[in-house]
Amino acid sequence: MARGAMKHVVVKGDLEEATIRPASLLSELRQLSIEDARRYFADASALEESDCPACQSASRTPAFERDGFAFSACADCGSVYANPRPTAAALTDYYASSRAARFRTERFVAETAEARRTEIISSHANWLGRIYDETGNRLATGYADVGTTNPAVFDEIRRLDLFAPLCAIEPAAGVVARCRDLGIDVAEEGEALGVVTAFETLEHQHAPDSLLRAAHRSLAPGGLLFFTTRTISGFDLQTLWGSAPYIYVPEHLNLLSIDGIRRLLERCGFEAIEISTPGRLDVELVLHAIEADPSIRLTGFVDTLLRHRDHRAHQDFQAFLQKHRLSSHLRVAALKKESHS
Ligand SMILES: [Zn+2]
Repeated sequence: MARGAMKHVVVKGDLEEATIRPASLLSELRQLSIEDARRYFADASALEESDCPACQSASRTPAFERDGFAFSACADCGSVYANPRPTAAALTDYYASSRAARFRTERFVAETAEARRTEIISSHANWLGRIYDETGNRLATGYADVGTTNPAVFDEIRRLDLFAPLCAIEPAAGVVARCRDLGIDVAEEGEALGVVTAFETLEHQHAPDSLLRAAHRSLAPGGLLFFTTRTISGFDLQTLWGSAPYIYVPEHLNLLSIDGIRRLLERCGFEAIEISTPGRLDVELVLHAIEADPSIRLTGFVDTLLRHRDHRAHQDFQAFLQKHRLSSHLRVAALKKESHS
């Protein structure tokens, strides 16, 4: 599909933040993450300088600081990224043994699994099933999810009746047994797959291009990659910037811009089929943030819109953000290019 014809999508339906991120669980996860990040990455040898993880440019300016970690803004593609950032080894150690990582899978994901399944995972599954139907390689039926935190994804994929076998690539430590119980293979890399997915994973990779290149190797010719992530190009992050209360290390090392995502796909051998931002929460996230922290200052127009207009205006504005790729929840479908070396 020509890039000019690339899809962008508006997703209808109400979704409330509390349904998928209950405040008490979110605040405990955040607190544990901040404490553990200090413990695991306090030593300077656990951190290293990085160029832009999206476009590799070394040109950058300071963006903001969060909980002792500095973020840079790429001067070329506008991506924002933690720099210096934890080394790959320090991150592996963190995700294998930190209290925050355990809390994330055992409490946060487990207790929101059903809500996420109805509100998010099932629509992801229908979305990728439709694109696979339309443009996928129907001879390649293998499916893998990278960095699985919620094994419910496999139930929803199975329901489509399009893929077999199903495989979890490097799932979170806390869900390996559950994946095996569901009859899912657990592996480090796949082979000749029809589809690879990575939901909300790119943002905490030490090197996002490693994930994309591994997906490229795992896919059959004509295979498809689907992922979701947060983008700094979205309304809530552009508005709140370093004050966004839900951005912290190491969960959010990479807040790539839409331009950055395009460049990342290109250099890892993918052609974008869809880059859309079907996020439904930007306005609500900003409203919650300013309620919790009165020191956050909004600019004139945003202040008027958020504080002096009603729910209907907010809904319309959110639909506008979705339509024009201005929400911070991004989803991407990409095709493996053949000529890539
Ligand atoms: Zn960049």
